[in-house]
Amino acid sequence: MRRIVVTIDGPAGAGKSTVAKQLARKLGYRLLDTGAIYRAVALTAQRLGIAWTDSPKCGQLAVDLDIRFEFIGDKNHVFLAGEDVTAAIRTPEISQGASQVSALPEVRAGLLELQRRLGAGGGVVVEGRDTGTVVFPKADAKFFLTATEAERARRRLSELTESGAQVDYEKTLAEIRERDLRDSSRDVAPMKPAPDAVLVDSSAQTIEQVVDSLAQTVETRAKRI
Ligand code: C5P
Repeated sequence: MRRIVVTIDGPAGAGKSTVAKQLARKLGYRLLDTGAIYRAVALTAQRLGIAWTDSPKCGQLAVDLDIRFEFIGDKNHVFLAGEDVTAAIRTPEISQGASQVSALPEVRAGLLELQRRLGAGGGVVVEGRDTGTVVFPKADAKFFLTATEAERARRRLSELTESGAQVDYEKTLAEIRERDLRDSSRDVAPMKPAPDAVLVDSSAQTIEQVVDSLAQTVETRAKRI
């Protein structure tokens, strides 16, 4: 069976990361978390005192980004110039920073080649916001995963609480709304389903159910090619 490119896009808290990871494992595919790349740019800018609105400077950081992914146990670790930044890129502050730098045209252009290189050769599950529309428009299986706003806020809250953060539901919901609005209304590569994407609402499904149904679609598509 051919090893294809699978894209999963959708808003924050829809379950993309968990689904993408389990789907990749089930299929024996690699995993490419494109959100982590935008987060890495935001973290680097913050450390260098560069504003998240500075398109030329953040664009240059994107071009120079030295990022590497490595599975350690069950976790996809992110290394930036050799430093493990897995936890540092997951704070609510960096989530907002990633959403801001990702609206800059020079950042998106700077990261396009990197993402295509990391996904080259197929046999990969790519997750993000524009992976089926812009990064891999010819992907053989595309999904747009979503869930109700309340469910997404609840999931994000439990994720943050588990990692020890002090956050509450209302604040998490407000942050999710702010990020979704910015991600879907920006001029460059706004978050939206590709015309040929399969829409999946995960609100009332377990992760296993979602993963099983995606895996079935991927296997059918891969056989047809
Ligand atoms: O998926 P995650 O929450 O890690 O993404 C962080 C931010 O990066 C998103 O809010 C979005 O602004 C941006 N992003 C993007 N395009 C992608 C992946 C992420 O704009 N393909």
